[in-house]
Amino acid sequence: MSKRQLAMVMDLNKCIGCQTCTVSCKTQWTNRNGREYMYWNNVETKPGDGYPKKWEDMGGGFDERGQLRDGHVPSRSSEYGTPWDYNLNELDSGKLLEAQQKLQVGPNWDEDQGKGDFPNSYYFYLPRICNHCSNPGCLAACPRGAIFKRDQDGIVLVDHDRCEGLRYCIAGCPYKKIYFNPKLFKSEKCIFCFPRIEKGLPPACAHQCVGRIRFVGYLDDEESQVYKLVHKYKVALPLHAEYGTVPNVFYVPPLPGPPKYDAFGKPVAGSERIPLEYLESLFGPDTKASLAVLEKEMAKRKAGKTSELMDILIAYKHSDMFRIDAPKPTASVGTDLIQIGKKAERSPA
Ligand code: SF4
Ligand code: SF4
Repeated sequence: MSKRQLAMVMDLNKCIGCQTCTVSCKTQWTNRNGREYMYWNNVETKPGDGYPKKWEDMGGGFDERGQLRDGHVPSRSSEYGTPWDYNLNELDSGKLLEAQQKLQVGPNWDEDQGKGDFPNSYYFYLPRICNHCSNPGCLAACPRGAIFKRDQDGIVLVDHDRCEGLRYCIAGCPYKKIYFNPKLFKSEKCIFCFPRIEKGLPPACAHQCVGRIRFVGYLDDEESQVYKLVHKYKVALPLHAEYGTVPNVFYVPPLPGPPKYDAFGKPVAGSERIPLEYLESLFGPDTKASLAVLEKEMAKRKAGKTSELMDILIAYKHSDMFRIDAPKPTASVGTDLIQIGKKAERSPA
């Protein structure tokens, strides 16, 4: 455990799937030097296979006895997808189309497909980063002790001085949020933009988020909106808590949406467009209670009463969404030194 834990809350009712977060992360960290195929931040359509393809079926994490579960290391060709460039000069010759038709998989592959038949089909967006877990499967699986949590904020990092590219961490992470860099022969992952955190700034994905869905703060800071969403109102829930890694990214689940329509095109009273069972399969048994709080507070607001929860989720002031102390920097970081070397302060794991 670290002394403190930074966390992120994402309100799925506001994500518009614009991928601005994905692009802000990619241009900052992963568009070069063997990281081209990596998406430290991705936004997938649910229900759907996600990225890497069918990551929820790949094992890793811990079983009920706290033992590491076997995990699978995704393949570049059939589960991540190989990065490609669009060469618009090839548009007329048909070569571009030919190249596209050969592609079998990639990030955001099943965008907006969702589930169900018209007019009762449904989908929502699920943005994902590393959860900077309190009990990281990646860390437990590494035989080199190369993965560590920072004491001051709980950010999980890879120590490249120790990593030998063995990839047990990739099998051990049930969220498949740690990647192998074939150029460096090392593992790499989301670093929660720690150089920005050390300057008091939120991660780029959160700062750039068009929908203002991302809140960042410490879980023990009762003034932070993260604390209020997770602990005070209990509307923000971890994704797949059953994996046993104690994730520190939390989600406000999507409301069930408009009612379904019957064969005559009439709304069916009390029906749920997004089935509760599906949401519970992602966010666990507290989903129903979370949705009930959201609906109650929305009703209060509609009736002209005040609701602190609704004010937080509307996010009137961008700056209120982030409460980040600026701890003393522990390492100097160049723009291309993504993971961290021996200068980092390691917490005893
Ligand atoms: S999400 Fe995966 S990579 Fe990130 S800390 Fe948890 S186990 Fe490790
Ligand atoms: S930038 Fe925000 S709204 Fe857009 S896809 Fe990312 S999380 Fe969703």
